[in-house]
Amino acid sequence: MPEVLTAPLVVEFPFTRSLGPVQSAFLTGLRERVVLGVRTTDGRTLVPPVEYDPDTADELHELFEVAPTGTVTTWAWNPAPRPGQPLTTPFAWALVRLDGADTALLHALDAPGPDAVRTGLRVRVRWAAERTGAITDIACFEPYDGPPAQPTGHTGEFTDPVTGIVAPARLDYVHSPGRAQSAHLAALTEHRVVGERCPTCHKVYVPPRGACPTCGVATREQVEVGPRGTVTTFCVVNIAAKNLDIEVPYVYAHIALDGADLALHGRIGGIPYDQVRMGLRVEPVWHEGSRFPDHYRPCGEPDAEYETYKELL
Ligand SMILES: [Zn+2]
Repeated sequence: MPEVLTAPLVVEFPFTRSLGPVQSAFLTGLRERVVLGVRTTDGRTLVPPVEYDPDTADELHELFEVAPTGTVTTWAWNPAPRPGQPLTTPFAWALVRLDGADTALLHALDAPGPDAVRTGLRVRVRWAAERTGAITDIACFEPYDGPPAQPTGHTGEFTDPVTGIVAPARLDYVHSPGRAQSAHLAALTEHRVVGERCPTCHKVYVPPRGACPTCGVATREQVEVGPRGTVTTFCVVNIAAKNLDIEVPYVYAHIALDGADLALHGRIGGIPYDQVRMGLRVEPVWHEGSRFPDHYRPCGEPDAEYETYKELL
């Protein structure tokens, strides 16, 4: 069996959001070393605070200060912190119900090991040295065996409140395309296009997914298709992409490679954009050292009859 490929993938973007009055007060409070919850109409205190009661949907306004000490309600040990997490050494993710609150807040708990953590453990906030009005103003929680701390009596009125945050969202993972697509990608390095045939309906899927999407059965039989194919449908692209060095307008097409029952995507070159048409016969153009065709160009054959590709539209 050929090697199954893997590759690191990163998806990230900064997410800018405005806070509204309740979240603004909560994060501004953290900046001032004050933890605020919000009171519900039936007298519970929710920390972290929310704008609407999750049970009754009532709009909530009444801010209420709770203590920076509390109790672990549940936890999980994190043996290998990832970049961007609150601590660089192993720690516990813990739900902490602060003294005076009725709900629990998720944060990191700094402890020497999982044996030092338990449900019911008393903890307190460890404040960050520099605070900006963000959840990271709580550096983490730490074990604490003193009496409950007393709230300062803060009402939630602040000068210069925080009104927005930028939350960086990042997904950093190792992707494996699996057996079928690994074989497909390996063949592409030799400039061959390999799909798989369904044993039941006999359709050939390129790129292969490892199973027939119609019959639901595993596909194993490898079938080389192309290299020539037929443009089944296309669009003219008029907007230049920042990271692509391609002159606009250009044509992006669905191309059914000969022998395949699924069209793949490709750019059409070597012909004026306004002469590309359904049924145009094309062949791939590979650049040295590239796994994927750079584009497809007309191969000089007469156009394919509509009847031969109408099922692939
Ligand atoms: Zn099938």
